[in-house]
Amino acid sequence: MPVRTIIEPFRIKSVEPIRWTTREARERLLQAAHYNLFLLAADDVLIDLLTDSGTGAMSIYQWGAIQEGDESYAGSRSYTRFKNSVQDIFGYRHVIPTHQGRAAERILFSTMLKKGDVVPNNTHFDTTRANVEATGAEALDLVIEEGKQPGLIHPFKGNMNVAALEAAIQRVGREHIPLVMLTITNNSGGGQPVSMENARQVSELCHRHGIPLYFDACRFAENSWFIKLREPGYADKTPKQIAQEMFALGDGCTMSAKKDGMANIGGFLCTNDDHLAQQEKNLLILTEGYPTYGGLAGRDLEAIAVGLQEAVAEDYLRYRIASTAYLGNHLAEQGIPIVLPPGGHAVYLDARAFVPHIPLEQFPGVALAAELYLEGGIRSVEIGTLMFDKAAKMDLVRLAIPRRTYTQSHIDYVIEVITEVWHKREQIRGLKLTYEPPFLRHFTAQLEQV
Ligand SMILES: *Cc1c(COP(=O)(O)O)cnc(C)c1O
Repeated sequence: MPVRTIIEPFRIKSVEPIRWTTREARERLLQAAHYNLFLLAADDVLIDLLTDSGTGAMSIYQWGAIQEGDESYAGSRSYTRFKNSVQDIFGYRHVIPTHQGRAAERILFSTMLKKGDVVPNNTHFDTTRANVEATGAEALDLVIEEGKQPGLIHPFKGNMNVAALEAAIQRVGREHIPLVMLTITNNSGGGQPVSMENARQVSELCHRHGIPLYFDACRFAENSWFIKLREPGYADKTPKQIAQEMFALGDGCTMSAKKDGMANIGGFLCTNDDHLAQQEKNLLILTEGYPTYGGLAGRDLEAIAVGLQEAVAEDYLRYRIASTAYLGNHLAEQGIPIVLPPGGHAVYLDARAFVPHIPLEQFPGVALAAELYLEGGIRSVEIGTLMFDKAAKMDLVRLAIPRRTYTQSHIDYVIEVITEVWHKREQIRGLKLTYEPPFLRHFTAQLEQV
């Protein structure tokens, strides 16, 4: 019999100690942070599942490449390596480096959008929505109905509702829809994948109306793996081939290299449109940097060039998706409500079902996240009413798994803590806002118990 256990495809070469705190200390720290886990010091967190963004461990090959970084202001060798690696997978004509995904979003939207425009997406991520809205345009979420029901199992819950997209184009008019976006995987919708078939249908519809399609490509490698596992006809293709096929359906992308770029910082914007690329590069020079570094050091470009290729390696993706499923399946087995099936980079607790006694205006997700910290020093993040206000279709608590960072026993600890909280869920109390900033309020909002 072949061995079936999936193991971490690496050994650990460098370690970072983590620090225990007492429950009394955490009570004090949580109050001082106004019940907003973003406001905690990271040293006061034991297991940090706030995000998988920029928090992963780099490989020896990435660290080696960093030593080769060319820090030339213009025409750096590191840019050429970066561009070649990006084009190998994404295939777009212009590759514009940015310091993060949101910088790519801001540049894309400020060149393409104006007040009154509408941008359809399966589900906008928080920074994507905010950057669309900052131009005066409307961010329209059109995920399929199955994608809004946490407990329902469907292989591609990130899919766009194609009929709703078509209706939106008819209603709003093609001239007010400068682009359509597809987020792979659908982060705010539970880390759920988009199928190739759906991307093809969206692409055909967009191109029939002359509308460019852009991918929010942050977790393109995980999305490719789900297609390989779940979509007929893809089992024998490599994740890289699947990614290439998907990106060929679009006209460009925004990307945070802090996700499937396997780097600690960076991002990029791609397009096939020469005229747009020129405008984007001009804007880049104004706020980010020269087009061959875009706000990044040469060494960062090297780390991304190597990281993108590691992200599409089969042994890595097999481990990545299996380890996220391990957490999700162990919680689901105990009846704990999560978004099913488990996503690629994260498991999402369904806070509306976990603490049904807390009304939406008392932020059930924020209250549950606070409790996980109190119980076991775990940091997670609410994706719900605090983040999106009334646009929130669900109230989720995301447990994001940093890449190549925590071991299975760390995850066993997380399962134990969440199970404890599940058993005393009736005691969790709702929260109310005492301070709220004008946009992206979840990052700095302050709350107290009602
Ligand atoms: C992280 C993320 C972004 C923004 O990228 P940053 O690097 O954090 O600025 C955009 N879209 C999605 C889906 C993301 O997950």
